[in-house]
Amino acid sequence: MPLENMKAMLAAAKEGSYAVGAFNILDYNSTKAVIEAAEDLTAPVIIQTSAKTVIFWGSSAIMSWIRELVKASKVPIALHLDHCKDLTLIAECIEAGWSSVMIDASSRPFEENMSLSKQVMEMARPKDVTVEAELGAIVGVEDDIHVKEQDAHLADPEQAVQFCEQVKPDCFAPAIGTAHGVYKGEPKIAYDLLEEIASKTPIPLALHGGTGLTDEVFKKCISLGCAKVNISTQLKYAFIDGFVNYHNAHNTEYNPLKVIGSQFDALKAGIVENIHLFGGAGKA
Ligand SMILES: [Zn+2]
Repeated sequence: MPLENMKAMLAAAKEGSYAVGAFNILDYNSTKAVIEAAEDLTAPVIIQTSAKTVIFWGSSAIMSWIRELVKASKVPIALHLDHCKDLTLIAECIEAGWSSVMIDASSRPFEENMSLSKQVMEMARPKDVTVEAELGAIVGVEDDIHVKEQDAHLADPEQAVQFCEQVKPDCFAPAIGTAHGVYKGEPKIAYDLLEEIASKTPIPLALHGGTGLTDEVFKKCISLGCAKVNISTQLKYAFIDGFVNYHNAHNTEYNPLKVIGSQFDALKAGIVENIHLFGGAGKA
């Protein structure tokens, strides 16, 4: 099946009160793990690339392995550019075949965030590419975007409504208290804010900073309107631990394919678990 954008899959998820997992890939092996997990569970899935990963490999190299892997798949798959501040890189990904992009102008003043996000909408629409936009500042480090705790702030509900009405993104990421990276202590999720925003806009919401949240937190956020859940940090750990653990257990054996296989298994197991948790299994 060719890549599709996020529109139909997020609409169906919102309607059905489940969420589509959006997993940050790093290379061919991790992409294959995402697709195989989705295939095994008959689930729609979003493959995400950070801007850094796109710059590391180049958009055309990534696109070539994605096309190869997606070609035989039977589930809906979107290829989404995660947090990107650079309009040139967004244009490059749209041109290269990404089916969805995120403009993260959340560090800019409100009006500027709206105008940059609108600009990306105009770039994406003619190519049938969906757009995710962010409001508020999500604490932590994602890609090259560092937000210190004192600079993090939740999305303002009035502004959220105005943003959604004027920009009309396909997916909206309001900062609601989750964090990128590893949580230090209990996350304080502003459920009332999430509920208020979800009740005032029909646009599907994205939950960022998914790694480390409990099953209960996921379920509550999904029930309140999050139709897309981002998982990145967990996959970074599986990527490295899957590799290192195998080598530590077989340290006289130098068989790269077995190491890569172990990495694949660790990645896929985590993805399968998440898809089940978000309710996406059987929804393709
Ligand atoms: Zn994020």
